[in-house]
Amino acid sequence: MFWTASAYHGRVRTMWRDSDGKGKKMTNRRVFILTTCAGLAAATLGGMARAEDRVPLKEDEALAKEFNYVIDAAKVDGHKFPDFKPGDRCSKCQIYEDGPNNMGGCAIFPGKLVAAGGWCTSFG
Ligand code: SF4
Repeated sequence: MFWTASAYHGRVRTMWRDSDGKGKKMTNRRVFILTTCAGLAAATLGGMARAEDRVPLKEDEALAKEFNYVIDAAKVDGHKFPDFKPGDRCSKCQIYEDGPNNMGGCAIFPGKLVAAGGWCTSFG
Protein backbone atom coordinates (compact mmCIF):
# COMPACT_ATOMS: atom_id res chain seq x y z
CA MET A 1 0.00 0.00 0.00
CA PHE A 2 1.36 3.46 -0.81
CA TRP A 3 0.16 7.03 -0.97
CA THR A 4 -0.06 9.02 -4.16
CA ALA A 5 -1.01 12.57 -4.99
CA SER A 6 -1.76 13.78 -8.47
CA ALA A 7 -3.16 16.94 -9.97
CA TYR A 8 -6.06 16.80 -12.37
CA HIS A 9 -8.48 19.50 -13.45
CA GLY A 10 -6.76 21.89 -11.08
CA ARG A 11 -7.36 19.70 -8.00
CA VAL A 12 -4.97 17.68 -5.94
CA ARG A 13 -6.11 14.07 -5.70
CA THR A 14 -4.89 11.91 -2.85
CA MET A 15 -5.21 8.14 -2.98
CA TRP A 16 -4.09 5.04 -1.15
CA ARG A 17 -3.02 2.45 -3.66
CA ASP A 18 -3.01 -1.22 -2.75
CA SER A 19 -0.38 -3.57 -4.12
CA ASP A 20 -2.86 -4.60 -6.83
CA GLY A 21 -2.84 -0.99 -8.09
CA LYS A 22 -6.44 -0.30 -7.11
CA GLY A 23 -6.87 3.06 -5.47
CA LYS A 24 -8.98 4.15 -2.55
CA LYS A 25 -9.72 7.78 -1.89
CA MET A 26 -8.00 9.00 1.26
CA THR A 27 -10.06 10.31 4.15
CA ASN A 28 -9.55 13.89 5.26
CA ARG A 29 -8.02 12.49 8.45
CA ARG A 30 -5.36 10.57 6.51
CA VAL A 31 -4.60 13.63 4.37
CA PHE A 32 -4.29 15.72 7.53
CA ILE A 33 -1.94 13.21 9.22
CA LEU A 34 0.28 12.80 6.16
CA THR A 35 0.54 16.53 5.45
CA THR A 36 1.26 17.24 9.13
CA CYS A 37 4.02 14.61 9.20
CA ALA A 38 5.52 15.95 5.96
CA GLY A 39 5.45 19.49 7.37
CA LEU A 40 7.15 18.42 10.61
CA ALA A 41 9.82 16.51 8.69
CA ALA A 42 10.51 19.53 6.47
CA ALA A 43 10.72 21.83 9.52
CA THR A 44 13.14 19.43 11.24
CA LEU A 45 15.38 19.12 8.19
CA GLY A 46 15.31 22.89 7.72
CA GLY A 47 16.41 23.35 11.32
CA MET A 48 19.24 20.85 10.93
CA ALA A 49 20.58 22.68 7.91
CA ARG A 50 21.20 25.95 9.75
CA ALA A 51 24.79 25.55 10.95
CA GLU A 52 24.90 29.19 12.06
CA ASP A 53 22.30 28.44 14.76
CA ARG A 54 24.55 25.86 16.42
CA VAL A 55 26.99 26.48 19.26
CA PRO A 56 30.63 25.31 19.35
CA LEU A 57 31.22 21.93 20.98
CA LYS A 58 33.49 22.07 24.01
CA GLU A 59 35.96 19.29 24.76
CA ASP A 60 34.72 18.96 28.34
CA GLU A 61 31.11 18.22 27.38
CA ALA A 62 29.97 14.69 28.28
CA LEU A 63 29.27 13.56 24.70
CA ALA A 64 32.53 15.12 23.47
CA LYS A 65 34.44 13.16 26.13
CA GLU A 66 32.64 9.97 25.15
CA PHE A 67 33.97 10.33 21.60
CA ASN A 68 37.35 11.75 22.70
CA TYR A 69 36.70 14.93 20.70
CA VAL A 70 39.51 17.47 20.53
CA ILE A 71 39.38 20.93 18.96
CA ASP A 72 42.90 20.51 17.57
CA ALA A 73 43.68 17.17 15.89
CA ALA A 74 47.40 17.84 16.45
CA LYS A 75 46.74 17.02 20.14
CA VAL A 76 45.63 13.46 19.40
CA ASP A 77 47.80 10.82 21.06
CA GLY A 78 48.56 8.35 18.25
CA HIS A 79 49.56 5.67 20.79
CA LYS A 80 46.21 5.91 22.58
CA PHE A 81 44.28 6.07 19.29
CA PRO A 82 46.19 3.94 16.74
CA ASP A 83 43.47 4.47 14.10
CA PHE A 84 44.37 8.16 14.01
CA LYS A 85 46.61 9.12 11.10
CA PRO A 86 48.39 12.47 10.78
CA GLY A 87 46.20 14.73 8.67
CA ASP A 88 42.93 13.25 9.92
CA ARG A 89 40.59 16.02 11.01
CA CYS A 90 36.91 16.89 11.00
CA SER A 91 37.04 18.75 7.66
CA LYS A 92 38.13 15.45 6.04
CA CYS A 93 35.51 13.37 7.80
CA GLN A 94 32.63 12.00 5.72
CA ILE A 95 29.95 13.37 8.02
CA TYR A 96 31.39 16.88 8.44
CA GLU A 97 29.14 19.66 7.07
CA ASP A 98 31.16 22.73 6.19
CA GLY A 99 30.06 25.82 8.10
CA PRO A 100 31.17 29.33 9.05
CA ASN A 101 34.45 30.32 10.77
CA ASN A 102 36.31 27.03 10.25
CA MET A 103 33.58 25.14 12.04
CA GLY A 104 30.89 22.80 10.81
CA GLY A 105 28.09 20.47 11.70
CA CYS A 106 28.49 16.84 12.68
CA ALA A 107 25.68 14.30 13.02
CA ILE A 108 27.33 12.86 16.15
CA PHE A 109 26.85 16.17 17.97
CA PRO A 110 23.44 17.59 17.05
CA GLY A 111 23.03 21.31 17.69
CA LYS A 112 26.78 21.82 17.92
CA LEU A 113 29.59 23.00 15.68
CA VAL A 114 32.87 21.10 15.58
CA ALA A 115 36.20 22.61 14.63
CA ALA A 116 37.33 21.92 11.05
CA GLY A 117 40.71 21.02 12.56
CA GLY A 118 39.20 18.87 15.29
CA TRP A 119 38.91 15.12 15.56
CA CYS A 120 37.04 12.40 17.42
CA THR A 121 37.07 8.61 17.56
CA SER A 122 34.16 8.43 15.09
CA PHE A 123 36.30 9.90 12.31
CA GLY A 124 35.60 8.17 9.05
S1 SF4 B 1 32.59 12.39 13.54
FE1 SF4 B 1 33.99 13.37 12.09
S2 SF4 B 1 33.23 15.49 11.88
FE2 SF4 B 1 32.28 14.62 13.71
S3 SF4 B 1 33.65 15.28 15.39
FE3 SF4 B 1 34.27 13.22 14.75
S4 SF4 B 1 35.91 13.55 13.24
FE4 SF4 B 1 34.79 15.49 13.48
